Amino acid sequence: MKVTEHIKQANGKTLFSFEIIPPKKGNSIQELYNNIDPLMDFKPPFIDVTTSREEYVYIDRDGLLDRKITRMRPGTVGICAAIKHKYNVDTVPHVLCGGFTKEETEYLLVDCHYLGIENVMALRGDAMSHQKYFEPANGGHTYACELVKQIQNLNNGKYLHDVIEADDKADFCIGVAGYPEKHIEAPSLKSDLKRLKEKVDAGADYVVTQMFFDNRRYFKFVEVAQKEGIKVPIIPGIKPIAVKRHLQLLPQVFKIDLPEELISEVEKCKDNKAVRQVGIEWAIQQSKELLEFGAPVLHYYSMGKSDNIKAIASQLF
Ligand code: FAD
Repeated sequence: MKVTEHIKQANGKTLFSFEIIPPKKGNSIQELYNNIDPLMDFKPPFIDVTTSREEYVYIDRDGLLDRKITRMRPGTVGICAAIKHKYNVDTVPHVLCGGFTKEETEYLLVDCHYLGIENVMALRGDAMSHQKYFEPANGGHTYACELVKQIQNLNNGKYLHDVIEADDKADFCIGVAGYPEKHIEAPSLKSDLKRLKEKVDAGADYVVTQMFFDNRRYFKFVEVAQKEGIKVPIIPGIKPIAVKRHLQLLPQVFKIDLPEELISEVEKCKDNKAVRQVGIEWAIQQSKELLEFGAPVLHYYSMGKSDNIKAIASQLF
């Protein structure tokens, strides 16, 4: 079922969902199941599975160091199919512009359709670590909006090279990213929202936000997005702080601010067990307010470990 249908069916009740990161290659899927199992008690209607951009690795070839591009966490679509069938839950693979040609994207979408996956998150992806700015793959998309258009074309039975007549058309529900604190490359929040509106006008059905730690950012974002004419559901993304290092890492990686009060609570902690507890309590308070606000879904970033998400969800759902 589509994410938007789940929201409609919930009839105003806030849903619980979460995002997982595929384990690094070489690890077993059991590790993932062990993290998903405890969260299934809270009946998520859908689970997101991220896609990692390719990275450079250095390999020793006959004594010479060679640089090769590789994917460290393969298998997003396969993992989505496995989770969907094991738990009978909808899954949402993240589909990236970066590192993929349009043809590769089409193959991936065709696989999703065959596997009964009805939702996809359309994202641009970040620049690779050695790049200053994002560069598309040769023959790939530059912005997520173009990817949304490609998915919509497929929904209308239009393949890149019209060699077949589709008699079983795909009908993907499309999610896109939104940034309550604006995307780092956007000159202003207003111009970023205009870009978000372009994605919605191109066919995006819902928005999931970047993590934020001050709900006022989300409330304001929803208000101005609606004023810009963005009428689709805007799902807040919530990340519980788990280790002290997050104080530097999260702002650096996700370009977000942390409230002073949260910083000082974390700094007071003697160890990471205490930090984890502060993160849980902060996320519970955030979630309670978001529930009161009537957010359609509370979407948690699990980043591989689910014990803290379970502790939060058990207070709320
Ligand atoms: P876009 O919507 O293309 O926007 C990128 C920037 O370009 C913005 O600053 C925008 O304002 C600007 N822009 C858009 N269109 C134009 C235009 N026509 N002309 C000029 N400027 C324009 N990354 C991953 O690698 N894997 C994941 O699984 C993943 N999951 C994510 C899930 C969520 C919920 C979120 C919020 C982010 C996720 N990301 C993921 C990170 C995302 O890929 C990065 O934030 C990326 O830098 C931007 O992606 P986007 O889809 O928002 O890009």
